[in-house]
Amino acid sequence: MLFSPEERQRYARQLDLPGFGTAAQERLRKGRVFVVGCGGLGSPALAYLAAAGVGTIGFADGDIVDLSNLQRQILHATSDIGRPKTESAEAHLRALNPHVTLRPHPARFAADTARDILSPYDFVIDATDSFASKALVADVCALLGKPYVIGAIDAFSGQLLTVLPGRTACLRCVFPDAPPPAPPAGPLGGIPGVIGSLQAVEAIKHLTGIGRLHTDALLVYDGLTATFRSIQAARRADCPCCARAAAPEARP
Ligand SMILES: [Zn+2]
Repeated sequence: MLFSPEERQRYARQLDLPGFGTAAQERLRKGRVFVVGCGGLGSPALAYLAAAGVGTIGFADGDIVDLSNLQRQILHATSDIGRPKTESAEAHLRALNPHVTLRPHPARFAADTARDILSPYDFVIDATDSFASKALVADVCALLGKPYVIGAIDAFSGQLLTVLPGRTACLRCVFPDAPPPAPPAGPLGGIPGVIGSLQAVEAIKHLTGIGRLHTDALLVYDGLTATFRSIQAARRADCPCCARAAAPEARP
C-alpha cells in the first residue's frame, strides 16, 4: 500500500535515513508492538512508536493517573489526573499520529491473560516497575518465542536488555534471583525517558531489520556521570526460563 502525501511528509526525516526508505516504513506499518506499562518507561516508548508509524500498538496498565506521576510519565497531563492511564495514553497517542491502530488493555498485566494478550504481537516492551512483572513478561515471551526488551530504572540509573528467546541471554540468565527492591525515592524524571526511548529504538530496529539489537549484554546507564556501560551476559545452562523457550519467531 502506498503512503499518502501526508504520511510521506510526516515520516520524511526517517524515510531519508540510510537503509530506511519506504520498505522499512512499510515494515513499521505492518509491525505490532505491545508495551506492558504506561508509566515512566512506557510513556516515551509508546510516544516514539506511535510517532514512527508502528502500525499496531497495544498497551496495558491498571493504574489511574496520579499527580505524583507527572514528574516523569510524560504521556499524561495535569488534566488526566484520575483517568485510567490507558485512556490518557490512547488520547495522547491518537493526537500524535492518527494513522496507527491503538489497542489499550485497561488492566494490570497478569499471568492468566498474558499469553493471549501478547500472542498477536511481533515484539514486546517491558515497561513495568517490579521484578515480578518483568519475570512474568520474560516467562510469557519465552513460552511464545516472542522477542522483547526489558527496561529497568532506579533513582539515577537505568538498565536495558533485549532478548531473543531460545537464542540470547534472558532476564533470568542475567538475574537468577530477584534483586533487592529499589528505595522508594526517585527516579529522576529523565532517567526512564532515556531507557524508554532506547526500548522504542530496539523495537523499531527489530521491525525494520536495521542495526543490531542489544542482546547478550546488559546496558547500564548512569545518569550522574552520563556514562553507558555494556556488561556481557551469556545464557545459563540451568536457566528455567530459557528451558521453556519456544522456537523464536522470525522477524516480520
Ligand atoms: Zn535464560
